Amino acid sequence: MAWDFETDPDFQAELDWIDTFVREEIEPLDFVVPHPYDLHDPVRRRLIPPLQQRVRERKLWACHLGPDLGGPGYGQVKLALMNEILGRSHCAPITFGCQAPDSGNAEILAHYGTDEQKATYLRPLLDNEIVSCFSMTEPQGGADPKVFTTTATDDGDEWVIDGYKWFSSNARFASFLITMAVTDPDNPPYQQMSMFLVPADTPGIDIIRNIPLGYQSAEHGSHAYIHYDHVRIPKQNMLGPRGGAFVVAQTRLGGGRIHHAMRTVGQVRKAFALMLERAASRTTQGELLGRKQMVQDMIAQSYIDIESFRLLVLQTAWKIDRYKDYKRVRKDISAVKAAMPRVFHDVAARALQIHGSLGVSNEMPFAAMVIESFHMGLADGPTEVHKSTLARLLLSETTPAPGLFPTGHLPTLRDEAIARYGELLEAELAEA
Ligand SMILES: Cc1cc2nc3c(=O)[nH]c(=O)nc-3n(C[C@H](O)[C@H](O)[C@H](O)COP(=O)(O)OP(=O)(O)OC[C@H]3O[C@@H](n4cnc5c(N)ncnc54)[C@H](O)[C@@H]3O)c2cc1C
Repeated sequence: MAWDFETDPDFQAELDWIDTFVREEIEPLDFVVPHPYDLHDPVRRRLIPPLQQRVRERKLWACHLGPDLGGPGYGQVKLALMNEILGRSHCAPITFGCQAPDSGNAEILAHYGTDEQKATYLRPLLDNEIVSCFSMTEPQGGADPKVFTTTATDDGDEWVIDGYKWFSSNARFASFLITMAVTDPDNPPYQQMSMFLVPADTPGIDIIRNIPLGYQSAEHGSHAYIHYDHVRIPKQNMLGPRGGAFVVAQTRLGGGRIHHAMRTVGQVRKAFALMLERAASRTTQGELLGRKQMVQDMIAQSYIDIESFRLLVLQTAWKIDRYKDYKRVRKDISAVKAAMPRVFHDVAARALQIHGSLGVSNEMPFAAMVIESFHMGLADGPTEVHKSTLARLLLSETTPAPGLFPTGHLPTLRDEAIARYGELLEAELAEA
């Protein structure tokens, strides 16, 4: 019987090292490195690579990868415990070589890349010599890929890509884009599209604008609206099978979603710590905020939300390690994905509220966290879609009631119990 909520002491020592390293060395970088993905930023070039080297020396580089790809192959539970520390800082994941979307893109390349594609793209990506972009969503819709219209046309030795993509994160910093395009419009809906490796300097890639999130200034925008205008790439740049873009995309999404959730635990814990500190520091009407019952309610509810979410994330991570089959944990991942934005939003919003006017200002991180909670509810599929998936999977495992009334119908159950124990009851009554 193995049922254990403790971390083994050796790994706990690593977590303690990571915690101190992130707190002391990486979190300050969030104020001086605006784009950790901008490999050409001279400040970033000075500050991040030496820290990456220390992570490598500690053998904590790219912990999401197995030894075949240069990682330690720790598995998802250990990764979860690490990511909930790394999630506190936007510079931390890249310092540890496990940042989205590069981690997911590397997964696709490892699974489907040819030897040549791996040599050109995967190796430098894993070493963070380059960064990448996943370019799937289109302006007319992201949640329903059946409406995508970007095409890749077969033209001799080349594919020619035409169309528009929306919210292609980090395209402005990427050396290559993984782009989804229609190649076979006459196939069944989920077999019409293929995936391509598109070098970012290919003529015809026109970034119309880089869109910032609601709390960011214009120069911080990194979600690209792209026009692929007759973008010609060699035939061998198809990634995975022709018509197989959906299957290829799924390879990155299972891991991607749970990794976002692990990092979200780090963000909500940060908001919660600030919430507690404020409630224990600020007074109103002659007493601490923490003495007010409604503030206590916010604190208690936040703790319950965070701890139950964290357990769901860890249990899902454990199942991934145990079964090594993302299909088998689809239900759990959808549950985590659907729970994540709500917990993130609610805890950040309560922390904001407890900080009053300061909380709503840009002098505290809460407004950004609230917007980021919506990011978590959209990227890799909207919450509604995941709830639907979860419900459908649960229903598919459910047997309909055999008769007119539900199996929990009390009069029926009572009749059955009486039929089973009636003689005994009568005997007892007769003796009484
Ligand atoms: C910060 C951020 C980064 C992103 N990065 C990338 C990236 O790098 N590459 C990329 O390709 N995409 C990226 N995306 C896009 C993301 O994948 C899409 O936002 C997502 O798929 C939803 O698509 P949409 O925005 O077009 O919304 P829509 O498809 O228009 O959906 C809008 C809303 O409609 C509702 N809805 C949609 N479908 C259903 C349904 N089946 N049932 C019930 N309700 C539904 C939901 O409330 C949903 O939020 C990013 C998004 C964000 C916010």
